Amino acid sequence: MTLYDLISRKQDGGELSAEEIDFLISGYTDGTIPDYQMSAFLMAVYFKGMTDSETNSLLNSMVNSGSTIDTSSIPGIKVDKHSTGGVGDKVSLILAPLVAAAGLPIPMISGRGLGHSGGTLDKLESIPGFNVNKSTDEFLKQVSDIGVAIISQSEDIVPADRKMYALRDVTATVRSIPLMAGSIMSKKIAEGINALVLDVKTGKGAFLTDLEDSRLLARTLVSIGQQSGIDTKALITDMSQPLGNTIGNWVEVAESVRCLKGEGPEDLEDLTLTLGAHMLLLGKISDSVDEAYSTLKSLLQNGSAFDKFIELVEAQNGDSSVLHDLTKYPEPKYSASIKADSKGFVQSLDPYALGTASVSLGAGRLKKGDILDNNAGIILHFKIGDSLNEGDILADVYSDSEEKLNSQLLNIKNAFEIGNAEISPPDLIKEVIR
Ligand code: URA
Repeated sequence: MTLYDLISRKQDGGELSAEEIDFLISGYTDGTIPDYQMSAFLMAVYFKGMTDSETNSLLNSMVNSGSTIDTSSIPGIKVDKHSTGGVGDKVSLILAPLVAAAGLPIPMISGRGLGHSGGTLDKLESIPGFNVNKSTDEFLKQVSDIGVAIISQSEDIVPADRKMYALRDVTATVRSIPLMAGSIMSKKIAEGINALVLDVKTGKGAFLTDLEDSRLLARTLVSIGQQSGIDTKALITDMSQPLGNTIGNWVEVAESVRCLKGEGPEDLEDLTLTLGAHMLLLGKISDSVDEAYSTLKSLLQNGSAFDKFIELVEAQNGDSSVLHDLTKYPEPKYSASIKADSKGFVQSLDPYALGTASVSLGAGRLKKGDILDNNAGIILHFKIGDSLNEGDILADVYSDSEEKLNSQLLNIKNAFEIGNAEISPPDLIKEVIR
């Protein structure tokens, strides 16, 4: 078989066999297939999709590109959460230590920024010294010792996703149900969990903007999870505006620290507690969402979740002093404030425009290997439904590059639609899919 034939068959909407898909995935992982041919294949899948059988083959080849972690030596039900990607979505940073503080072991393999959306690993790496590259033994030992670890795909664990993820990030090939399913579920199967809560985003800042498409993705992911022996549930949640008030790497870590101390913001805290409550249910340490929600809320308020986050950061070589005192973090070189031209209510707040602006400020990659600016980001002072006066500061914008900062100010301003109608914020949780 030649690679050229496989790409052109997929381009014509044909079906590939398990063997052909494995040839592609293993060849790309071991470096015999170059980026340009894999990009062409990914783009063909993006346009033509995959059958269920092809999606399963893709998933199997991705899982088998590395080894699967055996977590059976760690007592308890191992649970995780994974988001399909959104703007301002820093939930994992808060949720992983929070649920670990409640007593469930969390072995988490996360991702970097993808397209316009941020990534847990990039955010964590903005903490000086934080190491996301741990060997399997170190990963297991950390989960066993402190109940939580957050690491990257590696040469050993889903190396296929490590490479494909970085390529999809910069080739506009993320928005594809089979590619997302393969990427997300290969990591979750490889990390050796027993139960999984998926946060499937819907709305303009999600990869799948339409609710029906988000439902289809949720059902695909849940079905793969169940077939793989992982007790899986999906919540479809709002991404019609950014989550919380910050977008970027360090600004999101700082907001997570405040949230870990019970200081909100409300939407971020509510979503984190709801996802966490479902994790406690699947982990069988609670049997009601309401009870689990209030248990977790008390762990935010009494400092246990923050303490667990500090343990996590220190176990992964991060400098926790900047988390104890956020003002110790190096200041961004440039900043600007964007003001409202008129009074009114925020009608909409375009998360896609804000996500791409954040990437262009330096918080994400425009091409493979770009070095991130940890200070680049946006702090929003108003969200949908808030009332404001002319001259109020809509957003503060940060970057270590003056040119990048100036290039994004108008885009960020235009992301706010202000009008006279009083409107309510969108519902955060749309559906639960089991
Ligand atoms: N998260 C992932 O890990 N992969 C995707 O493709 C999208 C979100």
